[in-house]
Amino acid sequence: MRRPSVSPVGESGSLAAAAAATPLLLLGRRPDPDTERGVVCPGVVPDPADPGLVSRARMARAVLGDEAVVLGHHYQRDEVIQFADATGDSFKLARDAASRTEAQDAAYVVFCGVHFMAESADILTPDTTTVVLPDLAAGCSLADMAEIAQVEAAWADLEEAGCASVVPLTYMNSSAAIKAFTGRHGGTVCTSSNAEVAMRWAFEQGQQVLFLPDQHLGRNTAVLQLGLSLDDCVVYDPNLPGGGLTVEQLRSASVVLWKGHCSVHGTFLPAHVELARAKVPGVRILVHPECRHDVVTKADLVGSTEFIIRAVREAPAGTAWAIGTELNLVGRLAQEHPEQTITYLNEKVCFCSTMNRIDLPHLVWALESLAVGEVSNPIRVDADTAAWAGVALDRMLALPAA
Ligand code: SF4
Repeated sequence: MRRPSVSPVGESGSLAAAAAATPLLLLGRRPDPDTERGVVCPGVVPDPADPGLVSRARMARAVLGDEAVVLGHHYQRDEVIQFADATGDSFKLARDAASRTEAQDAAYVVFCGVHFMAESADILTPDTTTVVLPDLAAGCSLADMAEIAQVEAAWADLEEAGCASVVPLTYMNSSAAIKAFTGRHGGTVCTSSNAEVAMRWAFEQGQQVLFLPDQHLGRNTAVLQLGLSLDDCVVYDPNLPGGGLTVEQLRSASVVLWKGHCSVHGTFLPAHVELARAKVPGVRILVHPECRHDVVTKADLVGSTEFIIRAVREAPAGTAWAIGTELNLVGRLAQEHPEQTITYLNEKVCFCSTMNRIDLPHLVWALESLAVGEVSNPIRVDADTAAWAGVALDRMLALPAA
């Protein structure tokens, strides 16, 4: 990819001059189409300082009644979660979207999560249901690390290398286009809960696995759960010719990992585990499998978001935890379990910035728009993509329970 050249400030002028040329954008004051995708919200998004936001949300929610289902991912802010009819991880919410819209014949799903989750909800709900994402800038940096054109190029590299028996396996955190690619090529989708079962299934279908787009989940699953070695895995970099791998490396790998990672879980380091243990004797380190392999191998417990919540709920009073996952969830667990000591694994705390795009003003805006019959930010997956992504999702649903 050709990148724009950037001149050091010292060569092209002072920082002050640069700042004068590019006025500071105050968040929420106006859209910034140059840097933010799809953030134009028709109508007026309420002022975050409006003291009536909670009552406005309640009123719009009451007007909509059973016509709408509000879903909230565990990483959402408390101000949003309070209005969710159901909370969960991406997989649970996709299922909730399908079951709840059917049960109450809902016309709308207001998805308080990120873009790929809303796409999955659109695929799994009837055509009569419209899925709305309150802010289109709520993407996922991990999902965005694999674009369909890059994945098709990687597939061509594998074919050229003579890898004739590769099964694609994509994490739920990927675009509908990648899920559809996986469906078309005989693969399936996995979550952080069932990645082991899905990878074992993939090895029953073929000799090699192409794991998209999170290298850490793929590596942790292959090595810690399937017993492969680190050398059995190679990392395909979509920004390098041939993925940066030789033909021989592609041919001999059991698992070809996509070079993607979660910008939140990727911040945790082995040093954070060591520091937490030094500070709090007896602390239990609980991390998500999107964390790096060298962090996961130092932890006491590793599991999905739902697993993390369950582990804390079931622990006896007095348990001390340092948790490596998104900050909104860790903060909520700490509030709900004052009988335990719960800290964030990394002292330099990290929210998921894209999840946080869904705030109360955007939720109020989405609900009030629907209440007057205006559909804001609908997420629609085209029929062909939805059909093939549905094939991949159905294969996952047919896997034995993890
Ligand atoms: S926490 Fe990571 S994987 Fe989850 S939505 Fe945010 S960037 Fe994506």
